[in-house]
Amino acid sequence: MHWLPQIAESGPAVSVAGLSPGRSLRLLLFPAMFVASFAAQQLPPGLEQANRKPVQIVLVEPDAVTSAAVSEWKKDGFNAVAVVLDERTGEAACREITRKVSGDGLDLYWWIEVARNPNLAAAHPGWMASLGMHEDWRKNFPGFPQANASEVTKAFPWVPINYCEAFDAHLERVERLLKRAPPGWRGLLLNDLQAGPSSCGCGNLQCRWAFDYRVNATATKLEGDDAAARFITEVRKRSGNKAVIPVWTTECEEVDLPAEKRQGRSGTGLCGTVGCATGTCPGAFTRQWSALTSAHDGPVGLLALHTAFRRTQTEFGGGPGWLTNAIAYLDKTLPANGGRAISHDRLWIVVEDTGKAAASRELASKAGVGAVIVTRARIDQSYEPRTISAK
Ligand SMILES: [Zn+2]
Repeated sequence: MHWLPQIAESGPAVSVAGLSPGRSLRLLLFPAMFVASFAAQQLPPGLEQANRKPVQIVLVEPDAVTSAAVSEWKKDGFNAVAVVLDERTGEAACREITRKVSGDGLDLYWWIEVARNPNLAAAHPGWMASLGMHEDWRKNFPGFPQANASEVTKAFPWVPINYCEAFDAHLERVERLLKRAPPGWRGLLLNDLQAGPSSCGCGNLQCRWAFDYRVNATATKLEGDDAAARFITEVRKRSGNKAVIPVWTTECEEVDLPAEKRQGRSGTGLCGTVGCATGTCPGAFTRQWSALTSAHDGPVGLLALHTAFRRTQTEFGGGPGWLTNAIAYLDKTLPANGGRAISHDRLWIVVEDTGKAAASRELASKAGVGAVIVTRARIDQSYEPRTISAK
């Protein structure tokens, strides 16, 4: 059964621009109607515990932070601003950002992209994530040359923390970046602490469970399921008593399987012919998630970027409402694979601002998440294949 909600991407119920009174009423009713009709079917645990309003955070690039913009965000109901922190932003700029955000009484979070790092990938090609043994990713890169026996194909520019060398380099980088930020920030969001996209080779950008899946390693593998848990521990030691919040990606879904693996029903095609969504991946996901959440209290970010993940086909649950699928993935997968269900109020869900952010914010609120992060910065999740020598 297809148990995930399907949200129409267009139509008056989710229209935001040019609201007539009738339309704005429909907009208000939309999430309630959705929850009510969904409840009649099969409500995943937690979706009903929806009454407390989540913290509202807007995620932006540093140059978007002006005093006028901060006042606008405040008017728009945001309680906090998360700002992308990377090598482009020096100490003086960090001070200015801190002054502008806290000057208006909003909380400041820094957002650091970890694994997707073009500079590190170019400097250390051997640290990149590999595309696993399956070749289904090729459907998105037709004509890409075959690797020979002494080569391995990597997902440029993804440098996950799963090689010891990369783990250390990332830790050093986070520490270096944080030194630029004056006191006064509330927390740090660390994105992409899992393996790279298409990790088994299926081509799905959300396939993150595997590392060097049946291909040769090109650096020193960090064994175990707890790389992210260890990374967070180390970052916490280096950031005083601030909140350090990992941001996580859910894996391939049942609807991504080929038709022959779903009783002939069509699906998104995101996993090509590979059955990873119901194969090894839910178990590996549960082990990695459990290692993280048992080692650390506090919130966990959940990337629900429907366009970045190509979750745009409304007939398969895509569109701005896809965030409910990401939450439902946790509700379903963790208990089914020996993990513990996560309380929704621990989730900080990251949604794109594609003009339908109001609907996404409402849905997140109904789902009872602790915070909704509306990103106006581009959180790139793409990759390009690159073949390197495995020697
Ligand atoms: Zn896969």
